[in-house]
Amino acid sequence: MSEKKSERREALFYSQKNGYDLIDEKEKKLCYEYAEEYKDFLDNSRTERETINYAIKLAEKRGFVPYVRGMELRPGTKIYKANRGKALILAVIGSKPLDEGINIAAAHVDVPRLDLKQVPMYEDTELCYFKTHYYGGIRKYQWVAIPLALHGVVALKNGTVVDIVIGKDKNDPVFVITDLLPHLASEQNKKPLSEAITGEGLNLLIGSVPDPEEGSDRVKLAVMSLLNEKYGITEEDFLSAELSAVPALDTRDLGIDRSLIGGYGHDDRVCCFAALKAILALKKPSRTAVCVLADKEEIGSEGVSGMKSEAFDCFIEDLCDSQGVALRHCFENSLCISADVCNGFDPNYPDVSEKRNAAKINYGMAICKYTGSRGKSGSNDASAEFVGRLRRIFEENGVIWQMAELGKVDQGGGGTVAMFMAQRNIETIDAGVPVLSMHSPFETVAKLDCYMTYKGMLSVFKEK
Ligand code: MN
Ligand code: MN
Repeated sequence: MSEKKSERREALFYSQKNGYDLIDEKEKKLCYEYAEEYKDFLDNSRTERETINYAIKLAEKRGFVPYVRGMELRPGTKIYKANRGKALILAVIGSKPLDEGINIAAAHVDVPRLDLKQVPMYEDTELCYFKTHYYGGIRKYQWVAIPLALHGVVALKNGTVVDIVIGKDKNDPVFVITDLLPHLASEQNKKPLSEAITGEGLNLLIGSVPDPEEGSDRVKLAVMSLLNEKYGITEEDFLSAELSAVPALDTRDLGIDRSLIGGYGHDDRVCCFAALKAILALKKPSRTAVCVLADKEEIGSEGVSGMKSEAFDCFIEDLCDSQGVALRHCFENSLCISADVCNGFDPNYPDVSEKRNAAKINYGMAICKYTGSRGKSGSNDASAEFVGRLRRIFEENGVIWQMAELGKVDQGGGGTVAMFMAQRNIETIDAGVPVLSMHSPFETVAKLDCYMTYKGMLSVFKEK
């Protein structure tokens, strides 16, 4: 092949390079340093409430203050507003007026898990259990025979809220959902994966010692007594509790080269952290920057803390009011990165993805022009012009990125918060970190992709 010919190929063909062939040692160091901070964030974010609390702590250190209606807002003012402890909006006021639009990154803080039912506690054959009802899309067989921790709150009638965290500390006990031994599993083995473990069968083992007092449910009585001693709660208080069983697994470096991170909740806390770190790095942006950490994405963005909620509109309207700007005029000129993960191509399961269009590990931030299923149904499908604009932004800012598609045509699919932002007349696109084993108790991401997603968010926040 002549040299001229290969130059022509270079000029005409679209080719992707592994991110490690594009970064130098200095940037590799930045990727790995960023990963250390992210691991810390993830380890302290097992529920949406914990994520929001940790995010507020980081934001306050960087000069963000709680938004109070009517407060003076100047270019460079950094504010945040928490929504009932389960969602958060942060903003840095820009120098341009709000009717010229704002730059938004919206990620979600909720993660698939096993929520306790409202009447969860029972005893069977002198063992005590909690009943659970799973939240979000889980593969049930992945949740048995692994250590689980209990995180959440119990709201008492008098208005106080009791925080409960059991299983996070190394000295804490953990919990488990038992699985069948292979010796007796021949019938279960014949069932499809989706049926072998049932939702109603996901019962958490929480104790085994009977109370000395004679009568029924002696183990339950003993366990309830311990809970009462430590937290001052009774069984009735579970009625107004939000308690979740989550994997009791630490976030760990993964691989001999430590290039990957294994942990629970990368979807979507890895994008929460990227968007959060990016807005914390801003000083005086041209356009107002807004970072949304929304709840309830995994169950359709419903509820008062989900992206469908007008809590978002209410906050932005407050900002608009301070400048005499109509909310709708602000939205019309705004842009939004729906900061969410996508599936990375997995060589163990090549059949579900189409290689030319699948996101690859270490190839950078992944942009999904569309998601959805069965002919892009339920998808935002961003415009060509918006993708073109992003190409320019990323090129100018040295962001390594790739185009991505969620699986083969008609293989399945999914949605994000993107369509709910687009409904508000905000130009929106999905972008985030490729993940392996998404929605499992131990997901995998690459450090390079995490850092590039942060860099991508920052470049969008700085867009004039
Ligand atoms: Mn998800
Ligand atoms: Mn997600």
